Amino acid sequence: MKEYTVTLIPGDGIGPEITEVAKKVIEATGINIKWEIVNAGEDEYKRSGKLIPEETLKSIEKNKVALKGPITTPVGSGFRSVNVFLRKKFDLYACVRPCKSYGKFGLYSDIDIVVIRENTEDLYSGIEFKSDEEEGKRIIEIASKKGEIKTPSGISLKVISEENSERIIRFAFEYAKKNNRKKVTCVHKANIMKYSDGLFLEVFNRVSKDYPEIEKEDKIVDNMCMQLVKKPHLYDVLVLPNLYGDIISDLCAGLVGGLGLAPGANIGKEIAIFEATHGSAPKYKGMNKVNPFSIILSGKMMLEYLGEKEKAEMIEDAVKEILTEGKVLTYDLGGSAGTKEVGEEIIRKIESRKK
Ligand code: NAD
Repeated sequence: MKEYTVTLIPGDGIGPEITEVAKKVIEATGINIKWEIVNAGEDEYKRSGKLIPEETLKSIEKNKVALKGPITTPVGSGFRSVNVFLRKKFDLYACVRPCKSYGKFGLYSDIDIVVIRENTEDLYSGIEFKSDEEEGKRIIEIASKKGEIKTPSGISLKVISEENSERIIRFAFEYAKKNNRKKVTCVHKANIMKYSDGLFLEVFNRVSKDYPEIEKEDKIVDNMCMQLVKKPHLYDVLVLPNLYGDIISDLCAGLVGGLGLAPGANIGKEIAIFEATHGSAPKYKGMNKVNPFSIILSGKMMLEYLGEKEKAEMIEDAVKEILTEGKVLTYDLGGSAGTKEVGEEIIRKIESRKK
């Protein structure tokens, strides 16, 4: 049997509990994985003074595949996001977030949308200026020629490049082709941001011509939010710049029952990191309360990525069965089971199918 070595980053808050459960569920499929457990994030910073120790980066670089728990990022001040750093460092340019109904937990029971978010640029480029700093003053001087800027101001640059737009849009069409999807919708605000989102849309229109078998359309992001709430069935694969992708993927998660059912993957040319869409939910840390399905389904995506389709299906089938039965569920889905109990139930289902 093939042996894999996978980097496991437990992360902060609820991260260690849910990754431990996901690890056991993945192992229950019979796959031969050696886990290299390393750390990153707020807790690691408190322990060692380093947000991402060198050993963690080396492990990801070597193994090429990682399963990661959520990592806390302080709002407004403090350190920059470890998540954003990892995506940029390893050029994990495609964030793939499937939002699929497994029973009626959200507003609808038959949604199957895949959000494909550009993961490395846009307003997440981390290029920011304060107006009282030298560089900020220079930027304001240049920008003031285009329109009034009040001071003090904060300036964050929205950067959209042709090259990165093209690779994410191609990724979305290739994903659609490989997974028998019918339509790709480009989401933008090109009517207002003509140079940045305008470029993204222009590249979309050009690249889509290489995929005549796949339907294409574009939607302005505000309209898209309304459409997704009212008529989500009309949508299949969405491709978006970074910020809209971040927001719309949470909206889509809400449509299928919330962040407890929202898996994700950050994929680059050679390296991929799998993680839930949700964050570290610090208020539930150590309480054995939160839903492990998102990280477990991220694990299922990881098995697909490794080419272990059958084992991935074992996990998805077990999740589907539990959600259809509706007996062993965490609080967010109206149940009272704990994180570990849900994990144990999935393992029971996987074992019983093996017999
Ligand atoms: P969050 O996703 O942690 O929580 C939002 C809400 O969803 C909360 O009510 C939470 O209790 C609930 N929730 C989240 N995961 C759940 C689960 N598995 N089961 C049941 N309920 C769940 O978002 P937040 O509160 O905005 O962020 C907390 C921290 O997480 C912040 O520091 C943020 O930066 C970080 N974050 C990290 C990642 C990541 O590592 N990829 C992603 C998003 C947020």
